[in-house]
Amino acid sequence: MTTVIHWFQRDLRLTDNQALAAAKQRGAVLPVYGLIDAWQPVPTGSASRVWLHHSLMQLANQLGGNLSILTTMDDWADLMRRYAVTAVYWNAVPGVDYQPVHEYLTALGVQCYGYTEGLLWEPGSVVKPDGQPYKVFTPYYRRCIGTAPNRPTASVHPSVVGCGLGNIAGLDLVPQLDWPARVIQQWHPGERGATERLAGFLSNIQSYSEGRNTPSEPHVSRLSPHLAFGEISPRTIWHAVADHGLDPTQDAFCRQLVWREFSHYLLRDFPTFYKENLNKRFDRFPWRDTDPMLAAWQSGRTGYPIVDAGMRELWQTGTMHNRVRMIVGSFLVKNLRIHWRRGFEWFWDCLLDANTANNSFGWQWIAGSGADAAPYFRIFNPILQGKKFDTNGQYTRQYVPELAAMPDRYLFDPWEAPKSVLDQAGVTLGVHYPRPIVSISDSRQLALAAFASI
Ligand SMILES: Cc1cc2nc3c(=O)[nH]c(=O)nc-3n(C[C@H](O)[C@H](O)[C@H](O)COP(=O)(O)OP(=O)(O)OC[C@H]3O[C@@H](n4cnc5c(N)ncnc54)[C@H](O)[C@@H]3O)c2cc1C
Repeated sequence: MTTVIHWFQRDLRLTDNQALAAAKQRGAVLPVYGLIDAWQPVPTGSASRVWLHHSLMQLANQLGGNLSILTTMDDWADLMRRYAVTAVYWNAVPGVDYQPVHEYLTALGVQCYGYTEGLLWEPGSVVKPDGQPYKVFTPYYRRCIGTAPNRPTASVHPSVVGCGLGNIAGLDLVPQLDWPARVIQQWHPGERGATERLAGFLSNIQSYSEGRNTPSEPHVSRLSPHLAFGEISPRTIWHAVADHGLDPTQDAFCRQLVWREFSHYLLRDFPTFYKENLNKRFDRFPWRDTDPMLAAWQSGRTGYPIVDAGMRELWQTGTMHNRVRMIVGSFLVKNLRIHWRRGFEWFWDCLLDANTANNSFGWQWIAGSGADAAPYFRIFNPILQGKKFDTNGQYTRQYVPELAAMPDRYLFDPWEAPKSVLDQAGVTLGVHYPRPIVSISDSRQLALAAFASI
């Protein structure tokens, strides 16, 4: 019987996995993982490496322990020799240049089959009537939802032929520190964890539309790290929503899946999107280089409680609610006028769901330099945003406990509180909690002037 390899990358699942299903059709399948972490446009970040470790452990478990790990290109030749492999199948990661590995494998006499997957619709099939790619979400969305995505394919269990090489621990993904255990404790990486999370979310999906902007409440799906590692496919999610009796084309949650789709679509057509402004006018933007301000933002010590809550949530849990990502992002690029790339890099390292397409898209949207981005004059006011979306202050008090006793009225702008109120709450500004590092109104004016200059 012919032996082929399925090279797992960001498709750590057995269900609705096109390349794996094709490999299985061809012969006995040897499952492997490896190399891809260093080859992505930005190498896998610290928090994601922790997730990856746990996800690979689950996958190896599903495969009865039979997952070979590649650490160098030479490992390919070793596997080919030992198992007389005739072909390698994989689902491509967006932004990765597969040409060198393609050439290397072909020289070994092996056929290569790379698939595009992890999306609802084939990107090449969605173009404007004039054949150009969409750059505006709404027409893209309308065009997409006109055709239902294909139904997911069934689970494929590879006829594993052996565990030739390496082990997951050898990838050295988890540092010997306290934080990896802390960030992963609320999650269940792996295909099974993803399936259970989807089921849990569907039982409460009716609250998503109203509740998705409230960071203190569990109304969002928290599926993003599972999607980032391909432990579940968006088609599986889309059709699960439909099977739950909802119309995905009218559903607020499925619309977010199409935002994900749009960001992947853009990265395909604009492969430097993760490091270059899509709108070239922003190449002239007078960004500031200020390490102390960046450090205050990263560590959640800006003096703006909702911003600090978000940055601390990120550090403590490896994630951040979408509404708060927008607030902290706007604060960095507009109030501090620090380049969106610095925000991208910090998120990339800290997020469990870090993903080149979504992270670039989110940051360029906020900066105003991306496709269909927020207009430059839309500058979130962190005080009003806090009051509006964390009405009872539960989220902010959880992550900024030094302000826990502040009354709601002053929670988001404690510097406005009379001394007696601060005393009663046990807060001395500049001692227990920082004073604001910039003035919101002054920094807003400076940002508008900087935007006007380009
Ligand atoms: C500055 C910034 C950076 C971001 N970086 C990332 C990132 O690295 N990885 C990532 O997966 N998402 C990123 N997002 C998008 C969004 O914040 C997360 O996808 C969302 O918070 C994940 O939580 P959830 O799974 O509960 O989302 P839900 O609200 O339940 O949405 C379901 C799914 O839809 C997709 N989605 C939701 N919102 C967006 C959005 N605004 N743009 C694109 N796709 C979306 C995600 O895949 C998500 O899992 C970023 C947003 C911003 C503003």
